[in-house]
Amino acid sequence: MRASEFLIPTLRETPAEADIISHKLLLRAGFIRKAAAGIYTYLPLARRVLAKLERIIREEMDRAGGQELLLPIIQTAELWKESGRWDVYGEEMFRLKDRHQRDFCLGPTHEEIITLLVRNEINSYKQLPLLLYQIQNKYRDERRPRFGLLRGREFIMKDLYSFDKDQEGLNESYIKMYEAYKNVFRRCGLEFRPVEADSGAIGGNYSHEFMALAETGEAVLVYCNDCDYAANVEIAVSKAIPKEITESPAPLEEIATPGKKTVKEVSTFLNITSDKLIKTIFYEADNQIIAVLVRGDRELNEIKLQNHLGCKHLVLADAEKVKKITGAPIGYVGPVGLEGITFYADLEIPYMVNGIVGANKEGYHYINVNPGRDFEINEIFDLRQVEAGDPCPQCGSVLSQARGIEVGQVFQLGTKYSKALGAYYTDPQGKECPIVMGCYGIGVSRTMAAAVEQHHDDNGIIWPLSIAPFQVIIILASYKDSEQRTIAENLYKELSASGIEVIFDDRNERAGQKFVEADLIGYPLRLTVGKKTVTQGTVDLKWRNEDKETSVTLDGLASYVKEMIIREMEKYK
Ligand code: ATP
Ligand code: MG
Repeated sequence: MRASEFLIPTLRETPAEADIISHKLLLRAGFIRKAAAGIYTYLPLARRVLAKLERIIREEMDRAGGQELLLPIIQTAELWKESGRWDVYGEEMFRLKDRHQRDFCLGPTHEEIITLLVRNEINSYKQLPLLLYQIQNKYRDERRPRFGLLRGREFIMKDLYSFDKDQEGLNESYIKMYEAYKNVFRRCGLEFRPVEADSGAIGGNYSHEFMALAETGEAVLVYCNDCDYAANVEIAVSKAIPKEITESPAPLEEIATPGKKTVKEVSTFLNITSDKLIKTIFYEADNQIIAVLVRGDRELNEIKLQNHLGCKHLVLADAEKVKKITGAPIGYVGPVGLEGITFYADLEIPYMVNGIVGANKEGYHYINVNPGRDFEINEIFDLRQVEAGDPCPQCGSVLSQARGIEVGQVFQLGTKYSKALGAYYTDPQGKECPIVMGCYGIGVSRTMAAAVEQHHDDNGIIWPLSIAPFQVIIILASYKDSEQRTIAENLYKELSASGIEVIFDDRNERAGQKFVEADLIGYPLRLTVGKKTVTQGTVDLKWRNEDKETSVTLDGLASYVKEMIIREMEKYK
C-alpha cells in the first residue's frame, strides 16, 4: 500500500471530545471518526486492525470446534417476550417498529435468536455438542457511551454459544472457550487476567471475565500474589479473619453526638477507630425494606447483596422512608430496638464487641452495642467489598488490586434460555431434555482500544506486531531525490512480493513529518531510505518499541526483514 493513495487523515490536535489515551490516539492517528455518541466509523487503518483481531479470534474459535454463522441484527419483540427479556432489558435496548407498527430491536446480544435456531434444527443427542459463533455489530443504548471504542453504542462483538447435553458437557465447552480466550488475548499481545465474575443480566451462575490490565479500565479486580485466585471486586470474597476478642461486653449506653453523622465525624468525635462503628444501611429490595450491617471501615457490595437476595430491583431507601421506620434521619440510625425489619449482616459483624450504632434518635448514638445481646441478625453472609491487602479466600495470602478493561466474558447459562424458549433434545432413552447452554463474548472493537491503552508512548501507538495495520513502513526521506525514490520503490515491491504487509510512505512530504506520523500510527518496523542508502547502500531500521536505530545493508534486506518478521510473529502463535 502506498501512503499517497491510502486514506490516513491524521490530526495535529487532539479533539476535545477524547478523554482517554486510546480514544485520543485512534482519532489523531486516523483510525476512527465519531458519527454520533458511541457510534464510530472505522477508517481503513482500523479496518485492517479489526480484520487481524477477527482472524485471530476465528482461528481460535475454529480450533476449539466452533462453527461460524451470521444471525440477524434485527430481532422481533415476540422472541424477546418469549424469554422474558423484552421488559427486563430496559433502556439499553434499541427498539424500532416496522411499517405495520410491529416491535423489533437491534440485537444487544443473541441468546434468544440462536436458541430459536437450535430449537428448530436440533432434536437429538447425536447432534450435540454444538458450538456456534458469529462476529457482528451489537447495539446497546448505553447510559454513558464514552471512552471512544471502549464503551460504544454500536460495537463489534464475537459471540459464541455452546449447546450441550448436560452439565458435564457444558463444563467441557466452557474450559475449551476459557483456553481459547487465553490464546486470543495472548496472541493479540495483551497483558490480561481471567477473573471470576458476576453473571449480571445475562443470567446463569458461573462466569469469568477477561481483563486487559489498564489504569483507565472501568473494572476493578483483585488477585492473589501467591495462588491463582482472581476476581472482579463485584463478587470477590476475602477470608473473614475473626478478630481476637479481648474486650468483655459493657452495658449499652446512649450518648449525645450532636451534628455527627458520618463514620468519620462520629469516630473522630468519640476518638475511636472507624472499625468500632456498625453502619446500618436501608434498602428497598423489590419494594420491601431491609437493613444491612457492615463495619464502619468497610464498604457494602450491592452486587453481592442483590445476588444473595435474588431480587430484581435493589435501591437505597430514601431519607423519608428511613425516617418513617427509625424515627431518625440517616446518620443516626441503627438496629437496636427496631422491630419488623429483616437485618442482614456481613461476616465481620458477629465478631464485634462494644460497637457503636445510631440510636434512632437525632443527635444520639449507642455505644457498647453487642450483636445478639442488643439486636438480632436475621442472616449473616459475605457482604463487604474486598480491598487490597485483604486475605485471599483460597490461600490466605495478601490480595492486590488492579484496574482492567473487560475484553471478554464467558458464562455458563445452564437451561435458562433453552427452557424459556423450548430448546429440547431427545436422549438415547427417548426422554426430552433441555439443552444446556453457555455463551462467550469478546468485544472486538473494545479489544482494539484496549491494545492502544496498553501499548503507546508520548509519540503515539505501538501496535503489537500481530494486530498492526501494517507490519512495516518504508519511509522515503527525500521525494525529490530520484535515486532514493527508485531504491525505495524497489524495496517496497520486493517486500510486498515476499508477503510482508508493508506501507510505503512515498508522499512528497518532509522526512520529519513522515517520522512523526509513523510513530503516531504505530507501525512496528520502520525502514528509512535516505541519503546513506544512495551513498553507502544502507537503510536505517528501527522497531517502534525500541529506541535504537540500526544501519543495515540494502543488499538482501527484503529477506532479512522477512526472517525477522516471521521470527517476531512466532511470539504471537
Ligand atoms: P460491560 O460490563 O463493560 O458493560 P457487559 O458485561 O455488558 O460489558 P457482555 O454482555 O459480557 O458485556 O459482552 C461481551 C463483551 O462485549 C464484553 O466483554 C466487552 O468486551 C464487549 N462490550 C460490551 N459492551 C460494550 C460496549 N458498550 N462497547 C464496546 N464493547 C462492549
Ligand atoms: Mg460482561
